[in-house]
Amino acid sequence: MNDAMRRAGAILLVMVGGATPWWAGSGAQASASANDAMVATIAVARERAAANDPQLKGASRFEEGGWIYVHLEGGPGAMGYQHGYLLGAEIEDGFAAVSAGMTHSTKRDWEFFRKAAKEMLWPKIDAEYQMELEGIVEGLRARTGSKLDVYDIVAFNAFEELPDYYVPWLDKQQKTPNAPNLKSPGNCSAFVATGSWTKDGQIVMAHNNWTSYKNGERWRIVFDIAPKNGYRMLMDGFPGVIASDDDFGINSDGLMVTETTITQFEGWDPNGKAEFVRARMALQYAGSIDEYTEIMLDGNNGGYANDWLLGDRKTGEIAQLELGLKAHKLWRTKDGVLSGSNWARDPKVLKEDTPRFDPNNKESSPNARRARWEELLKENKGKIDVALAERMLGDHTDTAEKKEEANERTLCGHVDGSPRGIKEWDWEPYYPGGAVQGKATDATMAKEMRIVARMGHPCGGDFQAKPFLAAHPEYAWQEPYLRDMKAGPWTEFRSGQASKE
Ligand SMILES: [Zn+2]
Repeated sequence: MNDAMRRAGAILLVMVGGATPWWAGSGAQASASANDAMVATIAVARERAAANDPQLKGASRFEEGGWIYVHLEGGPGAMGYQHGYLLGAEIEDGFAAVSAGMTHSTKRDWEFFRKAAKEMLWPKIDAEYQMELEGIVEGLRARTGSKLDVYDIVAFNAFEELPDYYVPWLDKQQKTPNAPNLKSPGNCSAFVATGSWTKDGQIVMAHNNWTSYKNGERWRIVFDIAPKNGYRMLMDGFPGVIASDDDFGINSDGLMVTETTITQFEGWDPNGKAEFVRARMALQYAGSIDEYTEIMLDGNNGGYANDWLLGDRKTGEIAQLELGLKAHKLWRTKDGVLSGSNWARDPKVLKEDTPRFDPNNKESSPNARRARWEELLKENKGKIDVALAERMLGDHTDTAEKKEEANERTLCGHVDGSPRGIKEWDWEPYYPGGAVQGKATDATMAKEMRIVARMGHPCGGDFQAKPFLAAHPEYAWQEPYLRDMKAGPWTEFRSGQASKE
């Protein structure tokens, strides 16, 4: 297939080259436009050839509410190919934005990340996911003629763990002079509730994703995955990445999964298995809270350390897995609520994995949001449902200053409006980041493999890049990648959904 296409490309080159009167042009301009025409012709031929690939059978894509819904099915190689092909343009675009951020913050070049992917991560990735990642590269190349290879894609899949966990660990090991002040990220506000806390007594789960607007505006994929092995999955995600990665997903055996990241986590195990692989595997193969915990612990590398919020709709039980590297803890209940806003709470995890985190500073973003979750969930005990969860994700109460103001301390984060930034994550004042999208579901919906999702700030507010960059030239380096982030409507998605058109 690839060879045939390369041959087709070569023939086209000869034909187009021969048919174009480049000799008649007066120099560079004419030859440049001939070249453009040739490139465009090759691209069309490549797409046409790839679209007939039997590996694409059953796969589909449509857009709704600002989201791109993608259905992937089959064996790992085919699913990867479908992913790479159907999201080709979005992967190229997302890779450019993400890799620019990784090299900017770490002061390491891209070759460094490729090497880490090849030598450290790749050998420990299960064969199934190696095949899927290779499939992404193949599909991507078939669609766009991309030059990216599998190590680029692996490093890109690890964008939450390499720059902010591996690099600071390595800088410390190597005593790197003038090492950048890298801090693990603190993504997201979330809760999972059950029993007397919810309106129908069954599980309700909700999550908003906090990240830079640069990356967050691209975090707009709904993946409907029907793998040959394991459970059916419905999750939000990032183009080119095999795990949900901000982590909101459900599977057909009844597991409901989300998380918030542990602030000021420190540690990395170079011999462990990449987090993005374990997280994807856990959603695909775990049918219970215990199985989920087991998969996440197996090969734990400390990367992207999260407080996992889990629900099992079959039993009505919810759980919190605080997954440190040196320590971890699991809490579980059939009647309660568990919330997350980037704080650890187990004394051992706090002491051993997050030694610099101050759980008592009421003015920090994680702790102020923790107080707000407690207040808001208690106020609504017995009334919590998906409609209420949607409103909670857009909440703008700042508990530190006891006022309504969208800022870095509100459940719906707007750090671009904060003169304080979030020092715990090394987010400078007015950092263009915050809540970039939200999702919710409940046990009934999860049984039917349905979720609701809103792209953009869950409150419905828009972010506009141009006036922001004019007011904050210190973020000018993001200009090529930072785009407007317009909020879409809350939109329902379900497994096996077809486009309305
Ligand atoms: Zn908001």
